[in-house]
Amino acid sequence: MSLDATHDPAARSWVPGADGHPDFPVTNLPFCLFAVADGRPRAGVAIGDRVADLPGLLADGLLPGVDEALEELLHDRLNELMALGREARTRLRHALFALFTDPAAEPHATPRLHPIAGVRLLLPCEVGDYTDFYAGIHHARRVGALFRPDSPLLPNYRHVPIAYHGRASSVVVSGTPVRRPMGQIPGPDGPRFAPSERLDHELELGIWIGPGNALGEPVSIAEAADHIAGYCLLNDWSARDIQAWEYQPLGPFLAKNFATTVSPFVVTPEALAPFRAPAMARGADDPAPLPYLLDAGDQREGGLDLVVEAHLETTAMRKAGLPPARISRGSSRDLWWTPAQMVAHHTSGGCNLRPGDLFGTGTISGEEGDSAGSLLELTEGGRRPLVLPTGETRTFLEAGDRVMLTARAERGGLRLGFGACTGEVVG
Ligand code: CA
Repeated sequence: MSLDATHDPAARSWVPGADGHPDFPVTNLPFCLFAVADGRPRAGVAIGDRVADLPGLLADGLLPGVDEALEELLHDRLNELMALGREARTRLRHALFALFTDPAAEPHATPRLHPIAGVRLLLPCEVGDYTDFYAGIHHARRVGALFRPDSPLLPNYRHVPIAYHGRASSVVVSGTPVRRPMGQIPGPDGPRFAPSERLDHELELGIWIGPGNALGEPVSIAEAADHIAGYCLLNDWSARDIQAWEYQPLGPFLAKNFATTVSPFVVTPEALAPFRAPAMARGADDPAPLPYLLDAGDQREGGLDLVVEAHLETTAMRKAGLPPARISRGSSRDLWWTPAQMVAHHTSGGCNLRPGDLFGTGTISGEEGDSAGSLLELTEGGRRPLVLPTGETRTFLEAGDRVMLTARAERGGLRLGFGACTGEVVG
């Protein structure tokens, strides 16, 4: 993917807080859905500490070269924005970049800027379908070892992208409280119906789909990247005790469907162009991807080079004024499959993807223990509690615990972030 003037590390913006912003400098420009007070939800773009009203900028004639008919489509949900595809999205990016780097534009555009802290950030899309992959190979290996010490990775893992079809109705935006689920918990005397005692987070990237494909018309691996509209953070909350009892033979069900949290900002493939990475290296004993998953360009730059972190804040930490404690730090380079391979595989049998569909990558864990993206791994199945700065210990999440996920990229003087994906456990 080529770089252009919108990736210039020397670019400066007149928008307050944009220059040097850890997440939202002018080279990022992620989209979001927001509302001011009780107003109608509208598309926005984050820059510095502000969110710009996208249909408002269009109505004011401040985005030359962008189709003005788009204004009508930029309300209530971002599905239509995601349906646009790369070319139109890139035009929009260039117009926004020109506006925010032109000092003469400040008096005209400032009325369309709102402090991020003063708006409601909403779930970006009506999520038609949600699929969660399992591409974090170190996560798969470590979790597998808890159940099968002799053969942690199942024989199919390195050949076929593994996923389950999740539940779109319970995808919520960052900040939404997460209620501890009730469920069947296995025990020595058989299962009982009780609140989960092993509630966990999973640190993942989310992939927003657009434009998508028609039923029966697979997306080739060469075209697959063009069907990704953006990325976010995703927490696939998991009730491990419910999961252990119900997962055979059909996989996750109620252990995962009570909540999935996503961050509100949609970071575009164009913003991430400077932070591409090769597909994860395969060893001499590893199988090559089958031809329908193999593309030279995707192998060369289909991965992402992001540092992903999970932080935990307990009620006691909040009372003591302590910052959240980082409990893991990993890399999106530890994903066995690229996002394009996920798209190509998902559609390979003819399944249609639609704008605003959501993928999870699977939990991102590194080889080292402290880079694991779930408590299940960090505590070795609950056997080794984490010790927090307050002296508190955790095996799994307790009431009042707040999990915050972040993702950042830095390369060649450029950097950007995803904002935060947070959820507090209730009950
Ligand atoms: Ca997951």
